[in-house]
Amino acid sequence: MRLNLQAKYQLSISIILTLSIVLLALLLLWYGKQASVEVRTASADLMRHEMMVQVEERALSLVRALSSNLVNPLYSYRIESIYRLLANALKNNDVVAVEVFDPHGVIQHDGTRDITRFGAKVSNGRMVAALNHGASYHSTLENGRLSLAHAIKIGDKLLGGVCLTLSLERVSQNIALMNRELKEISQTSRNRQVVIALAASLLSLAAALVLGMMLARYLVYPIRQLVQATHSISEGQYHFTLDLKRRDELGELADSFNAMSRSLDRHQQEVHHIAYHDALTELPNRLMMKKLLNESLETSRKEESLMALMLIDLDNFKEVNDSLGHDAGDLLLKEAARRIADEVRNQQDLVMRGELPHDRVEQQMVSRLGGDEFTVIAVDLSVQKDAAAIARRIIQALRRPFVIQEQVVGIGASIGITLAPLDGESAEVLIKNADLAMYQAKYKGKNTFAFYDQEMTREIEKFSRVKQELGAAFEHAEFELYLQPQVRLDTGRVVGSEALIRWNHPERGLVLPGEFVQVAEETGLIAQMDDWVLESACSMVRYLEQRLNSSFYLAVNLSSQQLTDKRLPRKLQRLLGNYKISSGSLHLEVTETMLIKDEGRAALVLDQVAAIGCPIWLDDFGTGFSSISHLQRFPLTGIKIDRAFIKNLHERERDRQLAHALITLAKMLNLEVTAEGVEREEQALYLKQWECPLAQGYLYSRPLPLDEFKALLQGLQGLQGQPQSEAGRLSAAEAETSAEILPV
Ligand code: C2E
Ligand code: MG
Ligand code: MG
Repeated sequence: MRLNLQAKYQLSISIILTLSIVLLALLLLWYGKQASVEVRTASADLMRHEMMVQVEERALSLVRALSSNLVNPLYSYRIESIYRLLANALKNNDVVAVEVFDPHGVIQHDGTRDITRFGAKVSNGRMVAALNHGASYHSTLENGRLSLAHAIKIGDKLLGGVCLTLSLERVSQNIALMNRELKEISQTSRNRQVVIALAASLLSLAAALVLGMMLARYLVYPIRQLVQATHSISEGQYHFTLDLKRRDELGELADSFNAMSRSLDRHQQEVHHIAYHDALTELPNRLMMKKLLNESLETSRKEESLMALMLIDLDNFKEVNDSLGHDAGDLLLKEAARRIADEVRNQQDLVMRGELPHDRVEQQMVSRLGGDEFTVIAVDLSVQKDAAAIARRIIQALRRPFVIQEQVVGIGASIGITLAPLDGESAEVLIKNADLAMYQAKYKGKNTFAFYDQEMTREIEKFSRVKQELGAAFEHAEFELYLQPQVRLDTGRVVGSEALIRWNHPERGLVLPGEFVQVAEETGLIAQMDDWVLESACSMVRYLEQRLNSSFYLAVNLSSQQLTDKRLPRKLQRLLGNYKISSGSLHLEVTETMLIKDEGRAALVLDQVAAIGCPIWLDDFGTGFSSISHLQRFPLTGIKIDRAFIKNLHERERDRQLAHALITLAKMLNLEVTAEGVEREEQALYLKQWECPLAQGYLYSRPLPLDEFKALLQGLQGLQGQPQSEAGRLSAAEAETSAEILPV
């Protein structure tokens, strides 16, 4: 057991005081007992002496009276008178014997009628001798009896003596009685002393304890307070003031403690500010944001209110940093932080002034996560719309041009919004959600906001699963190129095919490119995939040409990365050389979305590719930007009208008009046209009617593995009966295979 200072102090004082008091009390009691014994003995002695003196005096007066009364009877020896006198004397209490004797000590009378002891000698010879020597009386104390002899004289002549013997039994009894009483008195007084000593001890003990406590309080209490203060400091709590109200050393110590706590507190606040704030914008940093977010979540949980976390990412900030330098970037971030904070503050003001349609005051906290990312925590929202309103205002504020180092700079912001408790109830989940939503906003085309929805999480999970599996898929050669025939509509012949990648997943079976091409692009695996596709396509062309003994082309879909890769033309040349195939056998498909990412570079690469002789097609035409300038700027062989226009062609007049217009436009620009996604005969009829040269779709065949595709072509050849080898191989328009395809 650990005792604190005060307890130890009090315990020691109590033990010492208790021992001293008990010792003192014992000493007093012992001394009292001794004194009482002494007093009792002395009193008993004194009283005994007093009683003896009284007995003796009584006996003396009796014997004196007797001796004077016996003078005459003894002188005249009147026996009867002597007898009466002695008998009278014997009647006195305590008188046990009386004897009259002559000067020689011979007994003359003993008070009995018969004078039994007549003539005998008195037992005490010294008594007789003393009387003969002139003493008037002589007393002897023997065997509890007092014998007092008195001379009987006539004039100077000694006639004899009378001896009175008294029993001292009664005196002894009285003395014993008196002793008992004295003892009782002394016992009572001792008891009283014990009680008094005990009471005094208890009182002193209580007084000592009180004194001890007061002393302890005076000395130990301030020390305890100082110890508590030290504990607080060691636990990082510096908000205390010791008020000991003393002017001694302890008071000075307390003052020093107070000064120290104040300085530590100041220091801690500074450290806290540095640790929890962003040095550039002075806004709370990521750490603080998490703290604020957790607190806000707790409050919104308790109050069952709605809150939002918004993640703001500046659009094109990197460009500003790269072109104007980091100092300018910092200035821009500061200004952006100020605008966001102002906007949030304005929002609050509007609510306060009642100009916003909700009755409760919102609170928003702005933080900078790092880089060009900011967050706003908006609590106590009435509806989801409120978060959208704040986001909209922030976007507007950041859209206004910035003047940085005398240059006008334009940026924007993409904002991801997630709501609690709807989307999640922990800080980590909300931050992740807001991040996903922000990416969604960027994906939507920047300068906008997006709310998180659970589909995003599923997408991300799918993304990371695919990302993990893609690497292994290459090692295990799980990819395969499927071929989908392209048909010349006027002749119904297969002139080529589009190469479409497939993933033979060991568990999920055949996986379509929509699920993994974008993942490969985002993870960088696309380069490996592109190389594999090109190489496989070239080897397939070679293979098919040899087997079918006719010219044939494959159209390969390029990735965005390939489109801007300056090495692509040389790569193509090498492949064409390696597989000994003509450039016209390898068609390349690009989309407008890819082109606009870096039009300059794409044009550079595509010009070189066209120079090699590979036909270039604009894929999915009509869905993207459908810019006529693209048709002019890039060296295109043709366009592929997207499936979206073909799908409802047979049902919707508007789609028919659009598809027809696109075909006409392409023709006028001297471009080839392939209609994608032709599934029905009616669609094919319309296309034929509008003289659309080429078609591709399930009507003719689904994408097939190489062997099946080869079998399909061979079957068609068989039907046709003669392999066509004379077909040209330079372009899609020219290149016709011998195979005629029947609608399936
Ligand atoms: P895309 O280049 O527009 O390819 C045509 C898509 O339409 C193919 O989907 C094809 O299977 C599908 N399709 C063809 N005819 C019909 C039809 O009649 N009805 C319907 N509903 N669909 C039809 P797939 O194979 O899933 O490919 C999707 C996209 O993936 C392609 O669109 C292309 O952009 C991309 N892709 C395919 N293979 C590769 C590749 O090897 N490399 C790259 N970078 N992208 C590829
Ligand atoms: Mg394509
Ligand atoms: Mg397409």
